[in-house]
Amino acid sequence: MMQAGVGMTSARTRQRLIDRLREQGIEDEAVLSVLFDTPRHLFLDEALRHRAYENTPLSIGHQQTISQPYIVALMTQLAKASAPGVRRVLDIGTGCGYQAAVLSQLVDWVFTVERIEALSFSARERLQTLGYKNISYLCGDGYQGWPRKAPFDAIIVAAAPPAVPEALKQQLAVGGRLVIPVGDDENQALRLIRRTRGGFDEEIREAVKFVPLVDT
Ligand code: SAH
Repeated sequence: MMQAGVGMTSARTRQRLIDRLREQGIEDEAVLSVLFDTPRHLFLDEALRHRAYENTPLSIGHQQTISQPYIVALMTQLAKASAPGVRRVLDIGTGCGYQAAVLSQLVDWVFTVERIEALSFSARERLQTLGYKNISYLCGDGYQGWPRKAPFDAIIVAAAPPAVPEALKQQLAVGGRLVIPVGDDENQALRLIRRTRGGFDEEIREAVKFVPLVDT
């Protein structure tokens, strides 16, 4: 059997992670299969790679983190990114690009926005090297979304604002879904907002802990 090491991980290690996600309530098989296939270790510095398949957030520098696999799976599932109608997705907070990589395997096109230039640049380089082609990158302010590319079938936000930014709601297609953590360090919850013909439906999901969506 192959030895798990840097640049290589055993199917067993990844399968254990998928089993955990299932236990935690992730049931979308397409999402689970993409999480299994995505090499999370290649989104981390070498020193942290041995922990890549633990179900935990990890540092990516610039005081930012790669989200916990459970959170990536949950947000992807809530955005129903594996549904046939979900074709164009906006990903706010590119970070190392892991969430964008996951989404790109489930939808036609991913639009990803990051405010820190160094992160945006290195995520782009990494994702291109790994062969993810259906992703567009913007270094900019996530509060504004990406108006020129709207409307989106889904929007996933990986950092928490104090309230839902109106611009993001406006960039949803009718039937589209916005998955966003809202609140401060102490008190934060994931919300699911759906655009209907007449307005918006809003549902509060579980307590979460994201870095703040920085107001620039
Ligand atoms: N999606 C990443 C998680 C990144 S953490 C993953 O897959 O692991 C959240 C990211 O949001 C950080 O990189 C941070 O720099 C970025 N961010 C914070 N405020 C922002 C803003 N106003 N606009 C765009 N990106 C922002």
